[in-house]
Amino acid sequence: MFDNIRRPMAASNLRWTLAGDKPAELFEGCRRVAGKGQYRGLTFLEVEAKSIINRVPYTNFFPFEYTINCYRGCSHACVYCFARTSHDYLGLGIGEDFDRRIVVKVNAVELTRAQTEPRNWAGHPIAMGTNTDPYQPAEGKYRLTRGVVEVLTERANPFSVLTKSPLALRDRNLLAEAAKRAEVTVSFSVGTLDTDVWRKTEPGTPHPRKRLEAVSRLKELGVPSGVLVAPLLPGISDSPRQVGEVMRACRDAGADFAAPIRLHLRPGVKEHFMEWLEGEFPDLVGAYRDLYRNRSYLPRRTRSRRNSNPARRPAGAKTPAPKKPRQGRLL
Ligand code: SF4
Repeated sequence: MFDNIRRPMAASNLRWTLAGDKPAELFEGCRRVAGKGQYRGLTFLEVEAKSIINRVPYTNFFPFEYTINCYRGCSHACVYCFARTSHDYLGLGIGEDFDRRIVVKVNAVELTRAQTEPRNWAGHPIAMGTNTDPYQPAEGKYRLTRGVVEVLTERANPFSVLTKSPLALRDRNLLAEAAKRAEVTVSFSVGTLDTDVWRKTEPGTPHPRKRLEAVSRLKELGVPSGVLVAPLLPGISDSPRQVGEVMRACRDAGADFAAPIRLHLRPGVKEHFMEWLEGEFPDLVGAYRDLYRNRSYLPRRTRSRRNSNPARRPAGAKTPAPKKPRQGRLL
């Protein structure tokens, strides 16, 4: 069923800094806008970025080389979000600041147009969703991701999107047109269908079933779409029953691929996550300390043993292929 199941990827070597975004420069002239109505409680920090396309240092782990992130911070507020530390880099907190104070690069569309000018740009694939969610709630107000997608569509430039939000469906016709002109992939991150786990771990996100519905809708329109089954949280969302439920739902949604990825916890995020764990799952604190002691990723033996368990795969799903994906899908 899944011809394109992808191998989990690691993140440790990727710099999440953006070209030209030195914190002091970024916040010079920053305009603070208080959210109203559906955005109440959020503060938008509107900045003019100096560059929008970031070139990622080459590693074996990441198949993408160029990224665009129109926002920093994300009100989806996932407790495990690896991008939290990028707020620290900006001089903001990695907890509530990350969830509530959203940096908005208001000139993202103009920069994309300028930087993909055919005379200066070779049409490299661009990954969106490598740092914060391009269809997070702020996108409903600013429509920057839509503007970037419009430019890339005009240019017939390949790109990928990774999101937790069915807001991507707002742009479904545009994405369908883009997919006719270039290689385009939209991936949704669905780590659990357990309502209790979802509410506790991703409090600002739309229900994961809405994301799977979005996969189906996009597939109907001819947009290649799949799922990152991520992150799987040990002892919380990684039981065979839970993972099997998600994989079956991916298959039923017609996903082109489904890639299980286990939780990784890098320094900074690890402390934030552990504090949350103590409040919600105190019985698991000791086990997590053992699992992630002095490391960000689960030990290889633990990962391979769990990933090789056939009970974790739905009937018809192939074993994860040990090949490098072509475009980045990490969130
Ligand atoms: S949706 Fe992605 S970027 Fe946003 S908080 Fe969750 S993991 Fe982080």
